[in-house]
Amino acid sequence: MTAASGYLRSDLRNLLELQKLDTEMDRLRAGIQRAKNDPELQALRAEADESRAAHEAVKERVHRLKRTASGEEKESDEIRAKVREMERKMYGGEVASVKELEQMQVRVEQLRVEIGRHEEAGLAAMDELEKTEPLLGERAEALRVVSERLAAAEKERRNTVNSLQTKLAELDPEREARAARIPGELLRKYEQIRSRRGGVGVAPLGRDGLCGQCLVKVPVMLAKAAQEGLLETCESCGRLLVYVEDGE
Ligand SMILES: [Zn+2]
Repeated sequence: MTAASGYLRSDLRNLLELQKLDTEMDRLRAGIQRAKNDPELQALRAEADESRAAHEAVKERVHRLKRTASGEEKESDEIRAKVREMERKMYGGEVASVKELEQMQVRVEQLRVEIGRHEEAGLAAMDELEKTEPLLGERAEALRVVSERLAAAEKERRNTVNSLQTKLAELDPEREARAARIPGELLRKYEQIRSRRGGVGVAPLGRDGLCGQCLVKVPVMLAKAAQEGLLETCESCGRLLVYVEDGE
């Protein structure tokens, strides 16, 4: 794995510096993604949707019950008027035939039964309405509370994303400047390994002989070559190795 690198020690040091910056920028990007996909926020959104639907459902039910109650009242009023009109005819001497009078009496009885049914239905709707209306206030209050919590959480998420994006944007020119200091071929190699290996293309190799990324002991000859400034690759994790003195 030994290869003459032809790179200056400073090139290799700059590469390590670039890696530090890239790691920091990746961390910021991951933070942005996390904030965008925050499961707590998503759960809160679902809770708010549910609360809104529950409120709507009660509103709709109250509306329907009011319509039923007034509809039943209107029906019974109309039939009552009809009965009054028939009774006026029956007792006002307008109906001469006994048979017709008997038929009308039967009809009036039927209509009274109908009135009773409509009144019952109306009362049932009113009863139900009395039980349902208080729920409307409860649901509205629950919706208000969850909406407020959601708005606060959304605002916090926006602030988090904005501040991370600002930090990220601030690092852009620095990243460019650092990358520009590294020879093209070395930079390409680094980028290639970095893209395939979780964002890490280069690892420091300390005096202890451990790869700074995977912490596996690097073979002595390889470590020695790296110490001499050659460009080596960790046999365990595939990252470029740059020798650093302890404490650096
Ligand atoms: Zn390694």
